[in-house]
Amino acid sequence: MPLLVDHTEITPTASIRPEAHGWRAKCLQRLIRLDLPVPKTVALPAQTVRAIAQGTAVDTSAILRLFGAAPLVSVRPSPANPLWGGPGTILNVGMNAARHRALRESHGAEAADALFLRFVTSYSTHVARLDPDAFQTGLNTADALREALRSYEREMDEPFPEDPARQLTEVLRSMARAWEGTSARLLRQAKGAPADAALGLVVQEMAQGIGPGLSGAGVIQFVDSVTGAPQVTGRYLGQSQGRAALREQDALYLTQDPRGPSLQDLSPAIFERLEAYGVATRARLREEMQIEFTIEDGRLAIIDAVKVARSARAGLRIAVALADDEIISRNEAVLRVEPRSLTELLHPQVDPRVARDVVTKGIAASPGAATGRIVFSSTAAQASQARGEDCILCRRETQPEDIRGMHASVGVLTERGGTTSHAAVIARGIGVPAVVGANGLRIDWRERRITAPDGRIFNEGDLITVDGTTGEVLGGAPVMLAAALDDNFQKLLGWADAVRDIGIRANADTPTDASTARRFAAEGIGLCRTEHMFFDEDRLVVMREMIFAGSAPDRAAALVRLLPMQRADFVQLFAIMQGLPVCIRLFDPPLHEFLPQSKEGLRELAEALALPLSEVTRRAEALSEANPMLGMRGVRLGVVLPEIYEMQARAIFEATVEAGKQGTPVVPEVMIPLVSASREVELVKTNIDKVAAAVRVKTGVAFEYKLGVMVETPRAALRAGEIAHHAAFLSFGTNDLTQMTYGLSRDDAGRFMGTYVAQGVFPEDPFHSLDVDGVGELLLIGAERGRQTRKDLTLSICGEHGGNPESIAFCRKARFDYVSCSPYRVPLARLAAAHLAL
Ligand code: PEP
Ligand code: MG
Repeated sequence: MPLLVDHTEITPTASIRPEAHGWRAKCLQRLIRLDLPVPKTVALPAQTVRAIAQGTAVDTSAILRLFGAAPLVSVRPSPANPLWGGPGTILNVGMNAARHRALRESHGAEAADALFLRFVTSYSTHVARLDPDAFQTGLNTADALREALRSYEREMDEPFPEDPARQLTEVLRSMARAWEGTSARLLRQAKGAPADAALGLVVQEMAQGIGPGLSGAGVIQFVDSVTGAPQVTGRYLGQSQGRAALREQDALYLTQDPRGPSLQDLSPAIFERLEAYGVATRARLREEMQIEFTIEDGRLAIIDAVKVARSARAGLRIAVALADDEIISRNEAVLRVEPRSLTELLHPQVDPRVARDVVTKGIAASPGAATGRIVFSSTAAQASQARGEDCILCRRETQPEDIRGMHASVGVLTERGGTTSHAAVIARGIGVPAVVGANGLRIDWRERRITAPDGRIFNEGDLITVDGTTGEVLGGAPVMLAAALDDNFQKLLGWADAVRDIGIRANADTPTDASTARRFAAEGIGLCRTEHMFFDEDRLVVMREMIFAGSAPDRAAALVRLLPMQRADFVQLFAIMQGLPVCIRLFDPPLHEFLPQSKEGLRELAEALALPLSEVTRRAEALSEANPMLGMRGVRLGVVLPEIYEMQARAIFEATVEAGKQGTPVVPEVMIPLVSASREVELVKTNIDKVAAAVRVKTGVAFEYKLGVMVETPRAALRAGEIAHHAAFLSFGTNDLTQMTYGLSRDDAGRFMGTYVAQGVFPEDPFHSLDVDGVGELLLIGAERGRQTRKDLTLSICGEHGGNPESIAFCRKARFDYVSCSPYRVPLARLAAAHLAL
């Protein structure tokens, strides 16, 4: 006995449950409750659809009887979540020779043939799974219909099925099976569907968009999908069904069609009703909906409604507008915006509606898109900027000398490097879009040309676009959308701040960074990498002089020159931050980042230092390290050459006194990098305390400061209990901590990271997404041991992970006080933190 198919007619009071019948069934019930003219619709629960997929024989005649004599129906998928997709809609089920004849009488031959042809084609290809090529002819409609029926018979060894119940059964079976197919399953799982996600189906009486009078079909929505601005958009096509209007060039606009009459001109009354339905669905479904409608001889039917497809910026604007209109709460608006989507709003983007000429794909290192002329050196970039011409700095990899050039460029492209390479970190810090590790390219700065994987050559001066959001490098200058840091953006983040319960600071090294941090409402600076203050060319020389100093007096002379620069930097930072906390990390210069790499660079340095080239070369060799990441860095420099940190402490404290005088008192936080033993902290602390005492005596001004430790080595995490005796705060530098926990060079990991992730060795690049199991355990151990020593210990994270939503969740759960991330990631972090609190 075939199974009688379990089905429920959708009425205002029927029991329609999204988890059983799916979102579409529920949505249609809501439209029916709003009194919209929805044709009769029946919902099939997921359990039944699954039985059908498994081969249970079913009898659908009872369903068809609900629709009266000789009905035509459509079948649509209705999974629990619209994002999960589903098999395509099948229209006009029930169409057969008899119905065709009747339609010829009532609607004319052309309309009847077209309708039957469309059904035969879609049934043959989607249900019987015949080759679509067999159904594409250049014939007129009547001949094409005959040919299609013949093709079916030839391929299937039987005539086209006439019985509507058989047709409906086959349609249900094919849709149920399509849902269970491997590719459909993988596709929806990628969108977050559980492995056992089920499908409901809805069967609906067809409203004929083909026939006499005003007949046709269309879709309408009331906001722009790209900007989110209120605007009627959509299309209407006479003598059509379903969503055909969206595919046809000559479909009419719904209103104000410059090419001729719009739907509003054809029928102001219908247009007005559609507008009213838009207002009603928005208010009651609490969402901007795209409504699918059919007009049958002047009668309007509402077939379906789906959430308007939207870009990130439109999504934010829609959420804010719904909250402003008190349709949803502010918290709900906050929850409706995906934190990662904000990145798209902070920078210009390639307009998603235009075609892209993709040259290659690298690592998306710094979001946003920029178009400019190719330059191969920082000097050329600066010259280009001076001419007022946007340029893209293209390097195999960047060096400290390139910072100026990066500032002068609108985008950066490198052949080598990963997400934490120099180019990537700096570009994110200064908000310049960057693609790094584009190793399909050959960047030849000598010949001044780039060879693309397909052999194309790009020369200096050619226009290219880097899309640091997708990692793509594009040829030419595609149309861009400007950044969207508007009132809506500020408003939503304000609502987010009202609920979040973990602090958000920014990593900021320069006044520009600090201003950006303030603009994005960071609650302070969580990491100021002081060595980055010396990347500018004129300062780099003094820094190098200090590094190259062969004797204590020489070093003292260099430090005397550095002191006023540092003091001025801090005065400026404190002024910008207006009393907000500023955490200053003492120098952590991996020396190789400050040494010239080329002969030419060495010669220039010799000139600048007025030393013989041989002497400079000898010193450079003496300073060079086999593994500079583990060499004379951070606190090791501070212990071996204490006068360097003493100079920095003096600069910080004198600037603190100055800030107090200017009416913005600050309690500076001084942070010691790369600690691995508590004795290191003790030694540095003793010296810094002495400097503070000396500055107090000299200026006659009392001030406070906090001393803390950056936990970047596994040992520092393990010995946090001991270290916390000397530290008011611990900040986890997860870049180095990841590097050292894995024994993985952050500069070189790009070479094999792709393979490692592809092979499932690492679930994700651990420099990108915090390794919760390993590095995370060190964080928890460090936090717990530190707190055992000192109850009021301030805990934070300041590696690149600070702006990553999953890492923020980890830190919040571990009751950290704040996270600190690049200024441009602050908005994302604020929103992600709010999501966690709601
Ligand atoms: C870190 O190691 O996590 C960190 C923030 O310091 P840097 O990236 O400067 O080494
Ligand atoms: Mg570090």
